[in-house]
Amino acid sequence: MDLNFSEEQLMVQDMARKFAKNEIEPFVDEDEENHHYRREILTQMGELGLLGFCIPEEYGGNGMGWMEGVIALYEISKVHTSWRLSISGNTWGPAMTINQYGTKEQKEKWIPPLLSGEAVGSFAITEADSGSDVASMKMIAEDKGDHWLMNGSKMWISGGHVSDLGLVYAVTEKGAGHKGISCFVIDYNNTPGVTRIPINKKVGMFAAPTSELVFENAVVPKEHLLGDLNNGFKICMWQLNNTRMGCATGGASLAAAALEGSVQYAQERMQFGQPIGKFQLIQEQIAEMKLEDEAAKYLLYNAAWLKDNNLPNQQQTSMSKLYSAKASVHAANLAMKVYGSYGYSTEYPCGRWLRDSKQFETLEGTSNIHTTIVAGIELGFQPNR
Ligand SMILES: Cc1cc2nc3c(=O)[nH]c(=O)nc-3n(C[C@H](O)[C@H](O)[C@H](O)COP(=O)(O)OP(=O)(O)OC[C@H]3O[C@@H](n4cnc5c(N)ncnc54)[C@H](O)[C@@H]3O)c2cc1C
Repeated sequence: MDLNFSEEQLMVQDMARKFAKNEIEPFVDEDEENHHYRREILTQMGELGLLGFCIPEEYGGNGMGWMEGVIALYEISKVHTSWRLSISGNTWGPAMTINQYGTKEQKEKWIPPLLSGEAVGSFAITEADSGSDVASMKMIAEDKGDHWLMNGSKMWISGGHVSDLGLVYAVTEKGAGHKGISCFVIDYNNTPGVTRIPINKKVGMFAAPTSELVFENAVVPKEHLLGDLNNGFKICMWQLNNTRMGCATGGASLAAAALEGSVQYAQERMQFGQPIGKFQLIQEQIAEMKLEDEAAKYLLYNAAWLKDNNLPNQQQTSMSKLYSAKASVHAANLAMKVYGSYGYSTEYPCGRWLRDSKQFETLEGTSNIHTTIVAGIELGFQPNR
């Protein structure tokens, strides 16, 4: 793996950094306080080509791959973690999955609006009683000859109630477990029978909407089935191995933000006549954060590099996601300590870092699940795909 960024990668980094500084940073406090999702950010990202990573140019892709995507998303979510869902929710979720499994017509119809930012994307797997055990989902899609009739509900769906286009996984053969699930593309603006309920009582990710989706006799056109019938579990696992990079990037960048903030604070805050950064116990905290920040970053780049080179990467993707979660929670905790009382004030970002970091231990595979993936591959119980 070449760790020197190319000219093009440095340009992407610079563009994303400037975009985040100018368009996201000025609104972070306001959006946190009002739990406000700023739709125009996604449109602007689409206009800049920041949603086009890993997708062929004929469908609106930007000709760049995973490494560039990770570099861009890192800069964006470092400023406000809620925005880690941008590339993840539009590009690495629905667009990439449609590109991999869709027909030419499906790709032409649905990928361009996701990459231009015209459409907000989402993916819905989780249900109230089906989390880690994906194959236990209950939402059903019945074949009614000329359409699918969908019933059931999905929980904790990022962007669910603001989404225009999303993947929804549902049972198409009862009792067949993971061999009876299929994947559908839902055009939310034209699907009667779907009620979308915002989940407002949550710990963090305040500027990223989360939703419950209730399907009651929702009529879905036949041609919205993505890939083969009953192949949805495989599609879902393939998708998660991509969208997890959004979590991995978000966690690594949050750890970096907490480190940078803590360094600045430790240089400026005076106690006992000197900057607190002069105290060895503070230095130990900074050193731990630095170590974990670097480790998280290189695990992330490694997973991106393997993906760009079409090499097996499931274990490395899981390691990156798992470690980013640990590093971000730890860094947020340590930042809170470095900042003292000010860390406890909402005028400083420590509370937001701590709230937002905790998501990474749960979504897109809990830390327990990623631990079992990493160990299972290492022990030879499953291949590294
Ligand atoms: C902010 C947020 C956004 C989300 N966005 C989305 C989204 O866009 N789309 C979507 O589909 N879902 C989304 N989710 C849901 C998320 O992916 C699930 O919450 C996650 O998969 C875990 O499921 P669960 O919460 O039901 O936990 P459970 O599966 O019930 O797990 C509870 C506990 O048991 C442990 N556990 C379960 N099984 C095992 C096992 N085999 N071995 C060891 N330990 C185990 C878990 O690690 C965890 O500690 C989101 C969640 C959050 C919080």
